[in-house]
Amino acid sequence: MKTLATIAELRATLDAARAGGQTVGFVPTMGYLHDGHASLMRQAGGETDVVVASICVNPLQFGPSEDLEAYPRDLERDTALAEASGVDLLFVPDLAEMYPSPVQTTVSVAGVSEPLEGASRPTHFAGVATVVAKLFAIAGPCRAYFGAKDFQQVAVVRRMVRDLSLPVEVVACPTLRERDGLAMSSRNVYLTPAEREAAPVLYTALRAGAAAIGAGERDPAAVRELMAGIIEAEPLARLDYAEVVDADSFLVPDPLAGNLRLLAAVRFGRARLIDNVGVTV
Ligand code: AMP
Repeated sequence: MKTLATIAELRATLDAARAGGQTVGFVPTMGYLHDGHASLMRQAGGETDVVVASICVNPLQFGPSEDLEAYPRDLERDTALAEASGVDLLFVPDLAEMYPSPVQTTVSVAGVSEPLEGASRPTHFAGVATVVAKLFAIAGPCRAYFGAKDFQQVAVVRRMVRDLSLPVEVVACPTLRERDGLAMSSRNVYLTPAEREAAPVLYTALRAGAAAIGAGERDPAAVRELMAGIIEAEPLARLDYAEVVDADSFLVPDPLAGNLRLLAAVRFGRARLIDNVGVTV
């Protein structure tokens, strides 16, 4: 594996690979890698010839009172994990390389970016779309791998790719979980032992919502209240939102029908965790 720090080097390397007939798989991350990231890298390795992963804690996607400074970083460990997961090129630009001078161009996606995470974190998805558009412009034609853990993020990226005709095929990969159901996340490191023990309630609530729909519940408010009740019964959890939406439009069908996604965000101390599950009726 080679680590590259400049846009010019990465672009030249990937252009040469494509000119030689190779396909490119791309896994954008913010680092502090775990097995969820590794699963994306391994899937990319199975489906493309050259796997590039990027590590960039992107300031544009953090709100002013969020955890940009505290976000965990460990490049040495990340380098070892990326290499062990089949990454060929690790792109680690510093901030000056990614954002020379003030950024005056941003990408924002309407519609799917507005509810849920978009309502709680109003500048978040424009920050994500901007950095991902930039990374796609640097990487060039590729298959890009994203985790379904960040389900709304995948929808925003897909919509951006479609609207801007970017030469990228977006691939959504399943969420990797700890044994007790907690979705793997770099932010899990913020949890105290007691919060860590409480945190699986997020997935428990989502599954209970999906089970209720599976058993015939069609009222979105009832599903929302069921999930909220389970989360609020945990004293260490502070509910941000728990919702069921159409998996494509992110609108709430009433009565519930079609391809649905249940999504929730919950705070445990300094950690704000998100998760989601799907159900089709
Ligand atoms: P992040 O470093 O948190 O920005 O995540 C980088 C990529 O890894 C995103 O596409 C995430 O959706 C994905 N990812 C994060 N956690 C998981 C997980 N538990 N399972 C699968 N993919 C994940």
